[in-house]
Amino acid sequence: MFKPLSAELLTEFRALIGPEYVLTTAEETEPWTHDYTEDLRFQPEVVLKPANAADISAILRLCNEAGVPVTAAGGRTGLSGGMLAVHGGVILAMDRLNKILEIDERNLQASVEPAVITQVFQDAVAEKGLLYPVDPASRGSCFIGGNLAESSGGMRALKYGTTRDYVLDLEVVLPSGEIIHTGARTLKNATGYDLTRLMVGSEGTLGIITKGTFKLVPQPAFRKLMLAPFPKGEMACEAVSAIFRAGVIPSALEFMEKDAIDFAQNYLKEFPFDTSSVEAHLLIEVDGQDEMGVMGQAEKVFAVLEGFECGEILFADSPEEQARLWRIRRTIGEATRAGNVIKEEDTCVPRAELASLWKCVKETGKKYGLQAFCFGHAGDGNLHVHILRPKDGGQVWEEIARKAVREIFAYTIQLGGTLSGEHGIGWVQKEFMDIPFSPIELELMKGIKKVFDPKGILNPGKMFPA
Ligand SMILES: Cc1cc2nc3c(=O)[nH]c(=O)nc-3n(C[C@H](O)[C@H](O)[C@H](O)COP(=O)(O)OP(=O)(O)OC[C@H]3O[C@@H](n4cnc5c(N)ncnc54)[C@H](O)[C@@H]3O)c2cc1C
Repeated sequence: MFKPLSAELLTEFRALIGPEYVLTTAEETEPWTHDYTEDLRFQPEVVLKPANAADISAILRLCNEAGVPVTAAGGRTGLSGGMLAVHGGVILAMDRLNKILEIDERNLQASVEPAVITQVFQDAVAEKGLLYPVDPASRGSCFIGGNLAESSGGMRALKYGTTRDYVLDLEVVLPSGEIIHTGARTLKNATGYDLTRLMVGSEGTLGIITKGTFKLVPQPAFRKLMLAPFPKGEMACEAVSAIFRAGVIPSALEFMEKDAIDFAQNYLKEFPFDTSSVEAHLLIEVDGQDEMGVMGQAEKVFAVLEGFECGEILFADSPEEQARLWRIRRTIGEATRAGNVIKEEDTCVPRAELASLWKCVKETGKKYGLQAFCFGHAGDGNLHVHILRPKDGGQVWEEIARKAVREIFAYTIQLGGTLSGEHGIGWVQKEFMDIPFSPIELELMKGIKKVFDPKGILNPGKMFPA
């Protein structure tokens, strides 16, 4: 379907961005053959490192004319295989577009290029007393551009929202090479179709994002963190929606099953969680500008938890103790992957349905003989499901796991949920898109793709079933 890269095109790329930014050998291109999705590897024909939107425009124009596929790569931490060059062609490594362009303290906004690392952005605005609250566990290595493309969420989405809720305007290069600007630097905007929010979560299939402006909020002055163990995982799930019903919106509310914590603690060789007689823990944070108000929220949470058969609740008062608990939570993904191949699903349901979803995962795992466990952002109904491949596993495991995932997804949709809360569809979930969407709904989405990318060169093979 796509043309291989010609020697002439490579010569044009070298003249355009400089030969040192055109990587072609297996050794040079290796980091762009994989992300964090299972053990998948795809070899691009070339990795290009453009310096700016003008370079990207020229590259896309050339590739569009030649019919060569182009896939953007950010920090390569994706969990749905979004940046994999499944049809070969060009990887556009965004690394050189890494500047924070402006922090506008008067308007509480900031403009950044797409290769700014999320934590670098958070730290830069924190120095000015501001908060960029989108907080994925991968914040130390993922890029803002990748966050935009996946509409990333993370730990604080339940109170503050996801990437989609913070972006005000974007600069985007279309597959034709044209550069467009979407949105405005206003907090509301009722002017035409919302192309900004269409681009967010479009997984690099509609255009290449080269700049974005985000709103910021003031840093909360006080935070309290609690750790609650539950002998029964179901009770932990039920407690989640009860906390909201009691009138508290925590700034983080994470569910961690025993297996998930054991992986992280063994990996870090730190053991602040006692998992000997519990099925799950909840890690709950409340924040605010007023110390008494934050204390009041923590007391309300405490009172709710007591009604759900939880064990002794730990209040992490010092910043060191809080950091220690968060370190365990943030390390679960990395720790499970160390030496293992996993399927990671990103199911999301209305939060009162969490217990049903969790029980479905456990029962489906048992039915198919799979090690399956959950952790994640329970406060917004988002449970990550890890399904481990046994060391001697192979094709049979793959088939069984996909069957199990289909059943879990079908039940998730029945509960009013969705396949992915924040990781996107990419390469590995696209075979399941027939579960939430009818053929006409899928055709509408494909129609949008055609308007932006008539030749289908941008990140082909993603999001839609064949
Ligand atoms: C240990 C671990 C923990 C994680 N925790 C979370 C979490 O808590 N919350 C969460 O939401 N995610 C999480 N993730 C998933 C991942 O980090 C996010 O999806 C992240 O946004 C990906 O960013 P990236 O820069 O690594 O993008 P990549 O993986 O490089 O790319 C992701 C997608 O974005 C596209 N893309 C990249 N840059 C651009 C651009 N400039 N323009 C257009 N398209 C572009 C790519 O083509 C691809 O489709 C986690 C991942 C890991 C490994």
